[in-house]
This record gives sequence, C-alpha cells and structure tokens, in this order.
Amino acid sequence: MRFDIITLFPEMLTSFMAMGVTRRAFESGQLQVHLWNPREYASGNYRRIDDRPFGGGPGMVMLAEPLWQCLNAIRSDRQQDRVQAPLVYFSPLGEALDHTRVDRWAKSATGAVLLCGRYEGVDQRFIDAHVDFQISVGDLVLSGGEIPAMAFLDAIARLQPGVLHDPDSHASDSFNPSLDGLLDCPHYTRPEVWQGQQVPEPLLSGHHAQILGWRRAQSLTQTWRHRPDLITAARAAQQLTPQDEACLADLVNVTAAKKNRLQ
Ligand code: SAH
Repeated sequence: MRFDIITLFPEMLTSFMAMGVTRRAFESGQLQVHLWNPREYASGNYRRIDDRPFGGGPGMVMLAEPLWQCLNAIRSDRQQDRVQAPLVYFSPLGEALDHTRVDRWAKSATGAVLLCGRYEGVDQRFIDAHVDFQISVGDLVLSGGEIPAMAFLDAIARLQPGVLHDPDSHASDSFNPSLDGLLDCPHYTRPEVWQGQQVPEPLLSGHHAQILGWRRAQSLTQTWRHRPDLITAARAAQQLTPQDEACLADLVNVTAAKKNRLQ
C-alpha cells in the first residue's frame, strides 16, 4: 500500500520509518512511503511556501499553489492507480482517529496522500478543492501534521501481517474487535517480586484457562474504571458473556461496599 506524504520536514518521517517494529513494514515495502516537500514546488528565489493571513492576525498560512503543484506531481507519479488515492489533511477539526478508522485504512486498496500542515494551517481554498478527509489526533493543537501522520502510519503498520513478532499480538490490544473493543489487561514481567509487589498469582499458575479468565476479568476491570463507555458499547453489541456480566456485577458491588465503608 502506498502513502505519499506532503511535509516541510521529511527528515522527521525518515527517522520514524527507520526504527522500532514498524520499520519492517516500511523496509519490506508493505507500506511504501514517498516523501514530498512542497518547497520544491514553490516558485521564486526564496521558494516561499507561506504568507501572512488576509485580514491580519498572528502566524502564517501555507500557500495553496505550491501544495497544488506538489499534489499534481504526486498524481502524475501515481498515474497507474486505477482509483485515485484520497487526500487526507491532518487537522484539529477532523474526525478523531480511532482503531476502527485505522483498521479501515489498513485494508485500503489505494493508500492515501497525507498532507501535514504547519503554521496556522493551509489556505482554505486548497482544502475545499482537494482534500477528501480530515483527521484529528485529539482535542489539542500540535505545531505540525507530521506527528499525526506518524501516529496514523504507525497504527496502520502494526496491523500489517508479519510486522509484530507475534501475529496474534494486536488481537489482544485495546480497542481490537477480538477483545470486543475493551481495553488491554495489565502486563507483568520478571522478577516475580519487585519492591515488595507480587505478580498476580494466576499468571504464575501455568494454567491456560485460568490465565485467560484472569486476563478477561482484568480487561473488564480496566475498561469499567477508565472507559465505561466501551462497556456500554460492548453490551449494546451483545459481546459480553454471562461471566463478563457477573464480573462487572462484582466490581459494582465491591465499589459500592468500599464507598459505604468510607461514609
Ligand atoms: N490554527 C489551527 C492549528 C494549526 S497547527 C487551529 O487552531 O485549528 C498546524 C498544523 O498542525 C495543522 O495545520 C495540522 O496539520 C496540524 N495539527 C495540529 N493539531 C492537530 C491535531 N490535533 N490533529 C491533527 N493535526 C493537527
């Protein structure tokens, strides 16, 4: 799958693609990433890619013309594509990135062209004319779209076959449908006792069913505590078993009893 990234800071992505487990997705060509610097498509001696906003105010705005020239170069480089790859602009006003959306992109036939904004953003006329999707990484403002682009590509890369050491590994990750959209359970490693804290007994039992049961109960507990909305969603999708419901009922009772004791 091919991704073309329009960025004023291609080096940020080069180092990201050379590291960690996801490196394999880029090196093997499962994800082919082409980096494009709009400055190379800017005219004049200074190759200007930004200017002051009409109406005044702080900051600079990315010029539409070099972005358009850059996009044209990408489109002609991708002229073999049977279906035109969508243009994604990372923006705080976009749809929030989540597992479901990442999973959809990970299965996309076309890949995408990713536009990383800088400064105050991009001239709205370019967005109106050419952008197909806008994606946000949360209700916060970053200084550029490169970190959102890396988050997006990283999440897609780890879903590619063979990228994680254990192929089942992401199936037990938070938000994954095979975990019914719940949060992951807590993890422990050696030593068995660290600063007086013991690894939970079931994990040392060597008893597969017991370990699975403990992990499911812990996933439910984490989700109930930190993201009760995901419990509601799993329940609505009829993904919770009677054992799950019994575990949740226990959690409610234990918490209520604790509250009563404190009153
Ligand atoms: N003036 C804009 C912020 C510009 S930040 C506003 O207030 O909405 C510069 C660039 O960083 C943006 O064009 C966008 O590409 C990127 N960016 C910043 N925050 C982001 C977020 N939460 N999600 C995705 N991209 C973001």
